[in-house]
Amino acid sequence: MALILLRASAFPNSERTSGTMALIITSPLRGWAAPLDSVPDPVFAERMMGDGVAIHPLDDIVCAPCDGEIVTLHESAHAVSLRSDEGVELLIHIGLETVALKGRGFTPLVTPGTRVLRGDPLIRFDLDAVALAAASLITPIVVTNSDGFTITRRIVDRAVGACEELMALVPVAPVQRRWSDDGTVVAQTVTLRLPHGIHARPAARLAECARAFEGDVHLVLGDKRGNARSPVALLALGTRLGDNVTIEARGNDAERALAATVALLETDMGEGASGAAPAPMAATLLEPGQIGGVIASPGLAMGPVVRIDRAAIAVQREGKGVEVEREALGKARASVAGHIAARAASGSTQVAAVMTAHLALLDDPGLASAADARIAEGASAGFAWRGAVHDQIDALRATGNAHLAERIDDLIDIERQVLGVLTGARADAEDAPPGAILVADDLLPSQLVTLAESRPAGLCLARGGPTSHVAILCAGMGLPALVAMGDALDAATPGVTLLLDAETGCATVAPCDTESVAFAARIATRNARRDAARASATDRCHTADGMRIELFANLGSVEDARAAAAQGAEGSGLVRSEFLFLGRDSAPSEDEQHAAYQGIADALPGLPVIVRLLDIGGDKPAAYLPFAVEENPALGQRGIRVGLAHPDLLDTQLRAILRVQPVGQCRIMLPMVASVGEIVAVRTIVDRLRGELGIAERVEIGVMVETPAAAITADLLAVQADFLSIGTNDLSQYVLAMDRGNPAVAAQVDPLHPAVLRMIAETCRRGNGAGRWVGVCGGLASDPLAVPILIGLGATELSVVPGFVAEAKAIVRALTLKQAQAHAHAALDCSSAGEVRALVRAFAETIR
Ligand code: PEP
Ligand code: MG
Repeated sequence: MALILLRASAFPNSERTSGTMALIITSPLRGWAAPLDSVPDPVFAERMMGDGVAIHPLDDIVCAPCDGEIVTLHESAHAVSLRSDEGVELLIHIGLETVALKGRGFTPLVTPGTRVLRGDPLIRFDLDAVALAAASLITPIVVTNSDGFTITRRIVDRAVGACEELMALVPVAPVQRRWSDDGTVVAQTVTLRLPHGIHARPAARLAECARAFEGDVHLVLGDKRGNARSPVALLALGTRLGDNVTIEARGNDAERALAATVALLETDMGEGASGAAPAPMAATLLEPGQIGGVIASPGLAMGPVVRIDRAAIAVQREGKGVEVEREALGKARASVAGHIAARAASGSTQVAAVMTAHLALLDDPGLASAADARIAEGASAGFAWRGAVHDQIDALRATGNAHLAERIDDLIDIERQVLGVLTGARADAEDAPPGAILVADDLLPSQLVTLAESRPAGLCLARGGPTSHVAILCAGMGLPALVAMGDALDAATPGVTLLLDAETGCATVAPCDTESVAFAARIATRNARRDAARASATDRCHTADGMRIELFANLGSVEDARAAAAQGAEGSGLVRSEFLFLGRDSAPSEDEQHAAYQGIADALPGLPVIVRLLDIGGDKPAAYLPFAVEENPALGQRGIRVGLAHPDLLDTQLRAILRVQPVGQCRIMLPMVASVGEIVAVRTIVDRLRGELGIAERVEIGVMVETPAAAITADLLAVQADFLSIGTNDLSQYVLAMDRGNPAVAAQVDPLHPAVLRMIAETCRRGNGAGRWVGVCGGLASDPLAVPILIGLGATELSVVPGFVAEAKAIVRALTLKQAQAHAHAALDCSSAGEVRALVRAFAETIR
């Protein structure tokens, strides 16, 4: 776009209103003005940085909002601050988390010290590229010295043009400082750990900290000195990672102010997790040259790196008429819907599930009406669609819920597919040579589905989360994948060889010959072992000394049940019945549910099928169940609590299960149990329904052990329950108090943590002691290294992903119970998950 000089002489810097001189700040951008509270970042929404207004930009030039002087311009050029001639300090921060773009997409047009007039261009940015890469485009404009000026008028909730009035300010009388300077001056030097130096968000946090004390705090870098109460002064220091910054505090609370500031600076202020891609916590000790990551899909792979970059899709802003644009958007959405439906029909169960979710998003009436409203205002179909999708993304991000934030990829995916049709641009990278290791910052589900057709060997992502749709698809395809590998993945340049170890969670870039040969041998051994295991997949499973262990499979559909039967599964220890309930407008009827459960039972003739009652709520919302917004969904209406709160839903599901023939093949399992009363309540309902259906036979009812409460009262639950099955995914998150879906802590939610193992041991001891069998259906049972420990701790049933049944049987056959018990007890004595992982790897060598 041509650089237009927007100098608005119509606006002097001030106007006189009722005797007071008001300072006028004009909008630096054309866009939609919104209240600061709507910014999905507490630093701005909670006014840590100061008061102001935010703009959803529609233009790509930031211009001066008043006459003044540029104070700071971050080296990434995503933020600029200036001081007006009257002393107002203003910060304009383009988008959120844009510091992580390291200047990509931003062109600075001024430098610190430049004298500017209102309307002078300050920064040009690539609206499309930044929209694609940033957390959000919303641009806060804040008065950072709010103690000197107060906003008397602000424009929000309407469109503004560049250089149109945005805020009016009046100066406030300076507050008399209350502190007494007893002459105390204390100082300490710290080395900065912030990956991008003190940029806007850390500056806001430091200022907030400094304002809590009466005395003065200054930060000093070389010959530059900034008052810690002023975010702009801190930005002006121009600090970088590794700088030695001295903190000086004076006044009667100097010691405390210094300690608090140092303590804050010695952390990464959350920047590691929310700024650039997080540096992952590797579950294994990394060698030089290795990059750690979170295992999204286990396995080993080696091959040449193929980088998949997501090219920006440019769209025209102005439409060619409302009807033309409406029709274009309608056709594009219909075309994408057809494409997705075709993929769903030809893909695996997992592909179909993800495609169904995408179709639901594409049809979302809210999205369609938001786009339509923009078209009515004159936007092009593409611009309107992009704006509507990004509003949804901002809303998801604002929830702070990591599970929901992972759905952002799905929204971007449908955004790009529709824009691809509208503009003719290629939305996806479509091919890579067979055997390649795909490396990307992040990947969209549709990209993965397309790329998978060329049979890649593995996938490494700098970002991504372990519960994202991409992770689920990889696991379903058996494609080894590591996610959340961070910026270190930049070292994986195209063509270089990469060893992907998604067993221990690390990758080696450009290995030496010896490393490559050893890794190839590991892959060969792994494949040989898997082939051998498959040859005896249908044999019954016992330990080497004769202890019967039942090897079941976790299922989400009839297709899964057929696959599990082919793998030699001896039944199903977990049918995730939510597959029937999610991604639709109303709950499935009794007949629909009955047909699905009967289909699964028929696919596993004569074998036990344990149907878990609806586990919905928390991270698995269903549109037709009105859940109140919960601050902590993981601790709210989840699992059996939902069923008991919606008796009709529970009755319908129980009737559908009880009607499956032969009676008793389907057993019932309660999710998220915390109290004995819950199983007593369900048993009462089951007994009533058996009476109504004329079923004389007793039907087994068991509980999932997913909460510490259930683990520690396993003996009490066992009085009422016929069996107990440990859900290690949730048990780990609740024992460790770490959200299993939050990529920032995902790598530490390790079910091999000794605390989790001790909970499992306690469950087995108490459950078995009360005469009930205890199994494990959580993800830990599908970890080959964990199987011996689980058997040693007393689990007699394992329910695993269908593809692992044969291998799990082979591991159990190679063990004696005595060996497993000694090994499990050693694991319970380890002091960390890392130590347990080292122990299990060493043990695996002894039984191979
Ligand atoms: C578990 O929590 O281990 C489990 C099997 O349930 P979910 O479906 O929540 O992973
Ligand atoms: Mg669970």
